[in-house]
Amino acid sequence: MSFADGTGLHCQGVVGADGLWSRTRALISDDQPICSESVAYRGTLPARQADADDELIWIGPGKHLVQYPMLQYLAQGACQAIEDAECLARHLAGQNGDFGEAFAGYQAERIGRTAQVQTVARAWGEVWHADDLIVPALRDRVFARRAADDHTDLDWLYQEGL
Ligand SMILES: Cc1cc2nc3c(=O)[nH]c(=O)nc-3n(C[C@H](O)[C@H](O)[C@H](O)COP(=O)(O)OP(=O)(O)OC[C@H]3O[C@@H](n4cnc5c(N)ncnc54)[C@H](O)[C@@H]3O)c2cc1C
Repeated sequence: MSFADGTGLHCQGVVGADGLWSRTRALISDDQPICSESVAYRGTLPARQADADDELIWIGPGKHLVQYPMLQYLAQGACQAIEDAECLARHLAGQNGDFGEAFAGYQAERIGRTAQVQTVARAWGEVWHADDLIVPALRDRVFARRAADDHTDLDWLYQEGL
């Protein structure tokens, strides 16, 4: 590995955890992030202003544009990164320095779950943003009948033992 300050390091493995515009990923893939064209504008304001009658939205100098590496509809980007880190650390610790085995074990353990999270997040997004007449009507009807403590649809995501 060569670093911008001119130093370098010899190592058996490199973990590219440098985010959406990862430079380490670019070493092994020429793919590019795909914009979902769904953007959430978020901000904070003093609590005493929360009851203001008028809604003010500032978009301009100093604006903050955020992007999710996986679609945001299950709020799982950071959660999956944390699970990844735990899994990778466990496999590295268990392989006595054999990075190839550790990476293979990590991939085998994680690929199914992360793919499921990405796939289901995409499906939820399609339900939230459906612009036909039928899907929003059915969605609202289902949600209106759902008890507040009914987590059936997401039990698979938060089940114990992961
Ligand atoms: C507004 C917002 C709300 C979110 N809400 C949720 C939520 O509720 N639940 C959830 O699970 N996820 C949420 N996410 C998503 C989550 O934040 C990301 O998916 C997660 O942070 C990705 O983690 P990461 O480690 O892959 O990358 P990052 O968190 O982006 O970390 C990458 C790091 O690498 C560093 N870096 C980049 N390039 C270089 C370089 N060349 N040299 C050195 N360092 C470099 C960066 O400075 C950064 O510190 C949200 C994201 C946003 C923006």
